Amino acid sequence: MDPTQESDNIRVRGARVHNLKNVDIDLPRDQLIVITGPSGSGKSSLALDTLYAEGQRQYVESLSVYARQFLDQMERPDVDLIVGLQPTICIDQRTGSQNPRSTVATITEIYDYLRLLMARLGQPHCWKCGRPITQQTAEQIQDRLLDLPEETKLMIMAPMVQGRKGAHKEVIDKIRREGLLRVRVDDEVYQIDEVPELNPKKNHTVEAIVDRIIIREGLRSRMSDSVGMALKLGDGRLLSCHLDTELVDEEHPKGTWVDQIFNTELACVECNLSFIDIEPRTFSFNSPYGTCPKCEGLGICEEFDPDLVVPDKELSLEEGAIAPWRGVTSAAVAKLAKGLDAFLTKHKLDRDTKLSEWTDLQREKLLSGEDKFQGILIALEKEFVTTTRKKRLDQLTKFRGKLPCPSCHGARLRPEALAVRVAGNNIHEIVRLSINDARVWFDQLEFNEHESLIATPIVREISKRLTFLEKVGADYLTLDRAADTLSGGELQRVRLATGIGSGLVGICYILDEPSIGLHSRDNHRLIEALVDLRDHGNTVIVVEHDEAIMRVADRLVDVGPGAGHHGGQIIAEGTPEVVSNVEDSITGQYLSGRRKIDVPESRRKIAKTRMISLEGATTNNLKDVAVQIPLGALVCVTGVSGSGKSSLVNETITPALLRRLGQPSQRPGPFSSLRGTSQVDKVIPIDQSPIGRTPRSNPATYTGVFDEIRKVYAGTRQAKQYGYKASRFSFNVKGGRCEECQGQGLRKIEMNFLPDLFVECPMCNGKRFNRQTLRVKYKDLSIADVLNLPIEEAAEFFENVPTIHRVLSSLCDVGLGYLSLGQPSTTLSGGEAQRIKLATELARTETGSTLYVLDEPTTGLHFEDIRRLLSVLIRLVEKGNTVLVIEHNLDVIKSADWLIDLGPEGGAGGGKIIATGTPEQVAEVAESYTGQYLKPLLNGQKTEE
Ligand code: ADP
Ligand code: ADP
Ligand code: ZN
Ligand code: ZN
Repeated sequence: MDPTQESDNIRVRGARVHNLKNVDIDLPRDQLIVITGPSGSGKSSLALDTLYAEGQRQYVESLSVYARQFLDQMERPDVDLIVGLQPTICIDQRTGSQNPRSTVATITEIYDYLRLLMARLGQPHCWKCGRPITQQTAEQIQDRLLDLPEETKLMIMAPMVQGRKGAHKEVIDKIRREGLLRVRVDDEVYQIDEVPELNPKKNHTVEAIVDRIIIREGLRSRMSDSVGMALKLGDGRLLSCHLDTELVDEEHPKGTWVDQIFNTELACVECNLSFIDIEPRTFSFNSPYGTCPKCEGLGICEEFDPDLVVPDKELSLEEGAIAPWRGVTSAAVAKLAKGLDAFLTKHKLDRDTKLSEWTDLQREKLLSGEDKFQGILIALEKEFVTTTRKKRLDQLTKFRGKLPCPSCHGARLRPEALAVRVAGNNIHEIVRLSINDARVWFDQLEFNEHESLIATPIVREISKRLTFLEKVGADYLTLDRAADTLSGGELQRVRLATGIGSGLVGICYILDEPSIGLHSRDNHRLIEALVDLRDHGNTVIVVEHDEAIMRVADRLVDVGPGAGHHGGQIIAEGTPEVVSNVEDSITGQYLSGRRKIDVPESRRKIAKTRMISLEGATTNNLKDVAVQIPLGALVCVTGVSGSGKSSLVNETITPALLRRLGQPSQRPGPFSSLRGTSQVDKVIPIDQSPIGRTPRSNPATYTGVFDEIRKVYAGTRQAKQYGYKASRFSFNVKGGRCEECQGQGLRKIEMNFLPDLFVECPMCNGKRFNRQTLRVKYKDLSIADVLNLPIEEAAEFFENVPTIHRVLSSLCDVGLGYLSLGQPSTTLSGGEAQRIKLATELARTETGSTLYVLDEPTTGLHFEDIRRLLSVLIRLVEKGNTVLVIEHNLDVIKSADWLIDLGPEGGAGGGKIIATGTPEQVAEVAESYTGQYLKPLLNGQKTEE
């Protein structure tokens, strides 16, 4: 059959991107297709770099001529033919290029609808005094006045001056020129020619009396003239004063004169503040009409962090309590802290009193200032903006941190916007709700008939999106959660909900491991969302390792058999049952149970004396958590998504330990005590972040093995003959590298609105070195040839050089033998980067009391890769180290020595420790979701050693 013919399939013929070996495959449209296989086998190369890249290219081709001029330079994926491809949308996890102002609400467009709702139906309040402010038409004002009881005495006035200094002669003159006869000055009524001289040094209030009326029938036209004139004279404001005969007391036997102010513009009449027109853009923190002027809509400001400035209250000023002033001469300090001595004298303090003996108020004043003393923080801020010495600037920068904006307190908006309320809440109070709570809040909103016309369609859109977010298991996130603080998996699920919400059909959605970060309990929700998307008439292609998701696929595609050049082939394809029965498919072997990761025979003993213990942790949703981490063991932190695992480990324990051990780190979340730290020498977080951000870094440079290789080259007879030192073999410095590309092997082409493109350097053909350098050979290979070797071959090649061999074989042990030694770090997956870091640690000779921290290390890993990862982690533990992992993968959880399970729910319903102990013990805790899912996997007969 002619492959270009129309059919219901997406046909791919001869795909050769990266390691793909001339892949032919037909993928049925409008189905749920799961692509699986070992890490590095070529799944992303097929799904993203072939299908999605071609989808993008076809899309650009449909664009304008202007856009198309870049097409020639845009690399076509290396594939013979793709037909039947629908428009493609990739829902990935990349958090990189996020606008720092993006939030869950903006990504999902909920914020756009909310802005509209606030602008149309919000009740504005004065941001200073909190009173509701209103805006009335001249007719409304007139009606209000005519509604006063018959026979009421009334004055209609125009406010001219409100509490301002001056003699105000010109104002009185103006009133006279308007032909008016009376004025009220400081609450006294005068004939216009009898106004006394006003003291120019005092505040005065002047109002022009436009008319005096007694309320009767038939006044309408006179009232209309007077109101009009007063509003004109008063710049849109009108003051009425009437005698209320019901307000009687001893002083006012006939009643009390009552002032009332009206305004045709938005304004607080009490505070005399006018307000901007309320429009949707007023609520946008991306628009100059809406953003908080102080933090420009970020909600946080970079400022001196009091905790860093005064890190130790057990010190006195003399002993260096003010950290940024340590090492600064006392003369300079005296200049910086003018008024400090007077401040100390006033509070009967001296420079030798420990700060812990000061009162809270005194410490606070020391920082923020009092009387003539400006306070340490302001002094530092001034020094920071004025210093011209780079070194001092760098020093000072270390004491700064991101703090909530002092003006908007994180709300990101100008005060006027925050003073607009719907059902009593301002927009910030609404977006601070979790998705769950927001749903409840919108459901209980009530509007009158007129408002309903406007509100109903808006609220419908919002509710629809909230429902989709709940469906994908993101219900615990707050709407204002910044996109750049979401984990990759969370961000992807939010985007997925947006995709479903958009209601598009006939799209090919491509997703990369959407299950990341999702607890087994919530997997079915994600699956339902994917099925939903398909049932709407879309093709859904998912790169995934999660067994439950594989099992619901309409079509499962197994790429393999190995990684890199050992992979790149389709090993099996069909329904999950069909794949299960394919003998050579490792995926099939796991699915059918022919192969599995066994529960360990025994668990390591936990020594009660070797623990790190942290108490009083309250970061994010943590509820005063106390936790003990046993050392010398594989410890796993578990719990449903949003239960607080990262808050505890990544935001509290790890930074607290790093700082305690004198390693640089972000500011830890709040906790009350941390003990047992002397039992570890180092904390090493091993995450999936790239090992380098430029193509100059690669596995050889990261592991340090390249230094050794360069020494080998410098030691050859040829090199000695030419006088080449080791630096000659570096592509980072002048000498041996190709100068055309400065040793990059690539040249960057800037593409304006498209991502930068890299093309091979025409001078060195991507070899990165100049011809002279390449003449030097070691065992027949040049340094460029060596960088191109797969690591497993390089390990053999350098068999006789122990320093090199040790590191390379450790890379092979973690399953990276297929990578080439010089593969640019920008092309490595997160899982590959993580394993390079692990291999580097494994290759260290010293045995350690190191604590390794890993966050979902199974991301991107297939069953077989997980088995290998576990054996690496266990080797680190066997050397005496501790491995602390956040994980939801049950194969890892069941292999741990000790579990710390958080929950019970995500968000506000979580943040507590539900169970700790061996997997067997946790499996017995009924309240633990992890326990429930774990129980069937354990053999049941084992007891604690
Ligand atoms: P998977 O998605 O199955 O983990 P990939 O498709 O990402 O695997 O990678 C397949 C192979 O291609 C791996 O050997 C990987 O190192 C390599 N590779 C991936 N991206 C690039 C790239 N941009 N340039 C060169 N090789 C790459
Ligand atoms: P887990 O790691 O178990 O998925 P997290 O520690 O990430 O859970 O989240 C716990 C709770 O804290 C959730 O409600 C989450 O939305 C909230 N949270 C996490 N990080 C932040 C942050 N940077 N800002 C605000 N809230 C956060
Ligand atoms: Zn602000
Ligand atoms: Zn070059």
